[in-house]
Amino acid sequence: MNREEAIEQIKSLREELEQYNHEYHVLDQPSVSDYQYDMKMQELLKLEEAHPDLVTSDSPSQRVGGEPLDAFQKVQHTIPMLSLGNAFNEEELREFDRRVREGVDEDVSYVCELKIDGLAISLRYEDGVFTQGATRGDGTTGEDITQNLRTINSIPLRIKEEETIEVRGEAFMPHRSFIALNEAREESEEEPFANPRNAAAGSLRQLDPKIAASRNLDIFLYGVGQWDAGELESHSERLEYMQKLGFKTNPEWKKCPTIEDVITYVNTWTEARENLNYEIDGIVIKVDNLDQQEELGFTAKNPRWAVAYKFPAEEAITKITDIELSV
Ligand code: NAD
Repeated sequence: MNREEAIEQIKSLREELEQYNHEYHVLDQPSVSDYQYDMKMQELLKLEEAHPDLVTSDSPSQRVGGEPLDAFQKVQHTIPMLSLGNAFNEEELREFDRRVREGVDEDVSYVCELKIDGLAISLRYEDGVFTQGATRGDGTTGEDITQNLRTINSIPLRIKEEETIEVRGEAFMPHRSFIALNEAREESEEEPFANPRNAAAGSLRQLDPKIAASRNLDIFLYGVGQWDAGELESHSERLEYMQKLGFKTNPEWKKCPTIEDVITYVNTWTEARENLNYEIDGIVIKVDNLDQQEELGFTAKNPRWAVAYKFPAEEAITKITDIELSV
């Protein structure tokens, strides 16, 4: 492809991806599958990599999420809520591991977690009391959905220590709630939700908290924003401490000392995911040591110390070692 063709193709991909982003993040009504979206994004990233001078800060490749809805009060995130870089096969996981090892001096160990397919949210506690809950929005500015989040029973309104902290996680709709909701919507001749993720996002962005309360949502917390709570050395210690404070963390996380262990975890969950009672769309791999995380730092959009492995499209599930991506 010559330069002129690349410019045209980049322009067209950006327009298409912006449209999909709006449908997904703002309207909660996607018109294409996540896999189709991800493949278009990969195409854009490859073209931008080949022509770095064409990268602009407003490209969908450089931006997180979508703009917050005006119906809600805006919340400025003191620490940005970023997205994650993606890996789609074993080779890309090994490439991530190589980059990490080049970036730090000592040996590296990982934590693997299920990638919950829901809505990223941030919860703020002041002196141990839940004061504010917000969506990720565009990463810098989110929506204040405190009243809706208060209806989720697994969110503690008070934690076990008088800490001032922000924890981050994924609000989601369990399969059972999703099926019941769509059955009820069909009976009342309302449009069913496309998937549990959109149903969760749509429920939490309702102005009337009674609607969110009726939707039986749940949450897993997996990270922190502002954190004044003691000296912990690793992500795994944080997960354990968060659980002690009373937060619901996902029990399936695992320490994986090598990339081989990571790949085994990925393969196990590629097959076992259908037994869960909630939707996951991949595995998140994080460097465990917090000093190493700091050393690796961030790009404009993603931490360099983590990656999201995305499961292949539903119909093509197989071990990642066998996958051939047709981009
Ligand atoms: P992402 O899905 O690649 O991953 C980042 C997100 O994963 C985090 O922000 C967090 O919310 C979530 N997450 C879940 N479990 C986690 C865990 N254990 N630890 C850390 N994070 C965890 O990126 P994104 O920015 O949230 O969304 C982009 C993705 O959304 C696309 O790759 C695509 O799959 C989908 N999308 C689809 C459409 C569409 O039209 N179908 C449009 C836009 C985006």
